[in-house]
Amino acid sequence: MINNVSTLCYRLKDKARQLGLSPVGITKAAPLEETRTILEQISRTGGRIPFTVDSVSRRTDPKLVWPEAESIVMVGFPYQVPTVGPSTGRTLKGYFAAGTYELDYHRVLIDKLSELGTFLQSQVPQAEVFPFVDTGPLVERALAYRAGLGVWGENSFLIRPQHGPAFFLGGLATNAVLAPDHPLTDSCLRCRKCRDACPTNALAVPYRLNYRRCLSYWTQAKEIMPDELRSQLGNRLYGCDSCLRACPLIKKSPREGVTVDLIKFATLTNREFRHQYGSSSVAWRGRTVLQRNAVLVLGNSGQKEVIPILLRLLLDPRASIRAAAAWSLGCYGGYQVQSALEKRLDLETEPSVQAEIVSAYERSST
Ligand code: SF4
Ligand code: SF4
Repeated sequence: MINNVSTLCYRLKDKARQLGLSPVGITKAAPLEETRTILEQISRTGGRIPFTVDSVSRRTDPKLVWPEAESIVMVGFPYQVPTVGPSTGRTLKGYFAAGTYELDYHRVLIDKLSELGTFLQSQVPQAEVFPFVDTGPLVERALAYRAGLGVWGENSFLIRPQHGPAFFLGGLATNAVLAPDHPLTDSCLRCRKCRDACPTNALAVPYRLNYRRCLSYWTQAKEIMPDELRSQLGNRLYGCDSCLRACPLIKKSPREGVTVDLIKFATLTNREFRHQYGSSSVAWRGRTVLQRNAVLVLGNSGQKEVIPILLRLLLDPRASIRAAAAWSLGCYGGYQVQSALEKRLDLETEPSVQAEIVSAYERSST
């Protein structure tokens, strides 16, 4: 057991790095005032904050989540960004963005944070620890910024000002009193390469991601993406990478991005999907959402050989798959497609799919 706070923090950070967690920094469990102001402004103007049902207060005040917390250790878990990214072209290969195909990072990182917590308890026996990764209400990026892990990029990612890898975030809240670090004083290069690389203009305002136009958001959302963004999807199945890959501050891996056979992926049964992707981030995101994306990409592929597959998927029991299949069939048109759309419309009971079929029929007639 040690009493000196700076020695304790030094050892704790050293242990984090031994666990492969870098960068690492500490912040107080105090409210995130600046983030609260921004989120309140978004709420006031009728905006929605994606992937959360929590109130602004719970998202920005650690003590509302863990009343006894005094400090939060924030860590980065590096992942590789490939040099070759998604394609806009005509292909039957679907693209998985960096870090989305490997072992589910939530599981790996929570295990490492638990080990870090055990280490802290070995040094401070009365310490309580609460590891968290992505699933808690708090705005992790803002905590990480305050703990000095990185600077805000114009692409709204937190990045290291020197040429370093991209990283996922996780944290360890504790009732132990630790010495807080400070936010970095550097800034990103403001070169706007990330904003120019965005295919949907989701970064029109620097540092403010318009998630309603962000392909990465829509590849993860349960709701199908707006019609006008679908042709910009290219071959992306999960995530996007374009604004991250464009950033000169992010170190790229010589590896190519992961791609899979679109037809096989779109038609995997539940059992095959679980067998193949059981412990990966792909399974975490879920079969229906990712297969719906694959079906949209089949429309973008422009390969007529996929029409029989799409006709089959138009009869899928899942409404989102039928809706995506209708849209993709509309990209091809032709007598066979139009007559299948007409027949399906007579039987279809789901209003959102009916609307997609009507729209696809009209597109295929022009
Ligand atoms: S993830 Fe893709 S769509 Fe979203 S802001 Fe970045 S480049 Fe644009
Ligand atoms: S691409 Fe340029 S502007 Fe965008 S985050 Fe990187 S350094 Fe900043």
